[in-house]
Amino acid sequence: MQRTLVMKFGGTSVGSANALKSAIQIIRDAKKDWDRVVVVTSAMSGVTNLLLDSAASASHGQVDSLPQTESTLREKHFSAADALVKDEAQREAVKAEIDTLILSLVDLCKAIAVLGEASPRAMDTVASLGERMSVRLLAAVANDAGVKAQAIESTQFVVTNANFQNAHPNFKATNEKTRAKLNPLMDEGIIPITTGFIGATPEGVITTLGRGGSDYSAAIIGRSLHADDVWIWTDVDGVMTTDPRIEPKAITLPEINYNEIAELAYYGAKVLHPKTIRPVLDAGIGLRICNTFNPSHPGTRLIPSPKTNGKVEGKVIKAVTAIRKQRLITIEGRGMLGVPGVAARAFGAVASTGTSVPLITQASSEQSICFAAPAELAPTVLSALEKTFAIEIADQDIDRVWATEDVSIVTVVGSGMRHTMGVAGSVFSQLGNNGVNVLAIAQGSSEVSISLVVDAADTENAVKALHELIVN
Ligand code: ADP
Ligand code: ASP
Ligand code: MG
Repeated sequence: MQRTLVMKFGGTSVGSANALKSAIQIIRDAKKDWDRVVVVTSAMSGVTNLLLDSAASASHGQVDSLPQTESTLREKHFSAADALVKDEAQREAVKAEIDTLILSLVDLCKAIAVLGEASPRAMDTVASLGERMSVRLLAAVANDAGVKAQAIESTQFVVTNANFQNAHPNFKATNEKTRAKLNPLMDEGIIPITTGFIGATPEGVITTLGRGGSDYSAAIIGRSLHADDVWIWTDVDGVMTTDPRIEPKAITLPEINYNEIAELAYYGAKVLHPKTIRPVLDAGIGLRICNTFNPSHPGTRLIPSPKTNGKVEGKVIKAVTAIRKQRLITIEGRGMLGVPGVAARAFGAVASTGTSVPLITQASSEQSICFAAPAELAPTVLSALEKTFAIEIADQDIDRVWATEDVSIVTVVGSGMRHTMGVAGSVFSQLGNNGVNVLAIAQGSSEVSISLVVDAADTENAVKALHELIVN
């Protein structure tokens, strides 16, 4: 049996000549242990943001900063090529290809400026350029280092619907195409190096899987190829007890189960895109998260979720995470009890705006409905609700529909919580003792998490306070 490994490198992991050097060493080592290796790459760090900012400015008619953007992109990619691709012909060839992509950014932005708007479809074409540049660079660097590799754009085999900026893969078509494109390369001992984040519709229009979507790409490709393992190479030592940028005392979790990582990822732990979990779980693929800058560290292994109802060993709360820039939206009124289908209509109105709701809480009085939504979408959601309930508002069955200022959702995660008394109590007293006011609470449906809504200003305090329940 051929053993297949899919490895994904994040933005920082391909973000500089030094990082690329580590990545190549990791790829070389993996090829010694695995029959087949596929590499999925993100754009170099900062590039996707830069591309999207350029397109957004262009949509307001601003193209003055384009020359600066062009030179930033050239400098970033070319300096790495200069440092790591010794063969002059190869070096010039890859730089020329990257330059063509940079010039197409300029054309696209100018077109957007003329139109005065950037459609989601145009935004995806722009956003795709980052991975399309980095994939060429990484493959050139690999070949120069004697690692036989070929760049191939995932638009050739990841087939998606036309839901731009958050496209959904068609697994059947993707499976067939991925095997047809990648297996022949691997049969020849070549490592396919492909783009994360992007795909194409059946007609060939470029789409993206959503921000941070390269992790998901690795899972999709792993599933198509019946891979044994998917390894996510990032810039920290795996999944940690919390984001080390908030709490430097965070430590690596050597193991975490699928339920727990799903909850963590969903509630904001950027270390893994939440959609990554389903395809690997469905296909029984192993998942590991490890550090490109500390490759000998074992990182984090995903393990099956416990089936039994037994108590867990060790700490009940395993990790804490936060999603910022949310608003709590409340629909309230004493007449609401008598109004049929309020909740269904409310969430229908929210769904019509394309907003997904990360958290719903029920006030004890049943005279209000309260949920969280991303801050930037709150005004749209409020007006959709006001329209839907115009009659009830006029009749004063609903008194008001309103949103808070920015809040954060802070979530504690751990499988053992389901069977352990008093977790919620210790969470509240810990927050109370640290002066954090809880605005709302919700328990995840899988019962492996408890989410609390706090003022934006309390976010760090809340995360640090709750983290003490894990490490102390
Ligand atoms: P990549 O570019 O490799 O995909 P990301 O920036 O998307 O990397 O994700 C890695 C980052 O996730 C880390 O640098 C860290 O700041 C953040 N992060 C948030 N929560 C966690 C957590 N629980 N464990 C590890 N990292 C976390
Ligand atoms: N480059 C894309 C982004 O920044 C995808 C990724 O890095 O996963 O969102
Ligand atoms: Mg990421």
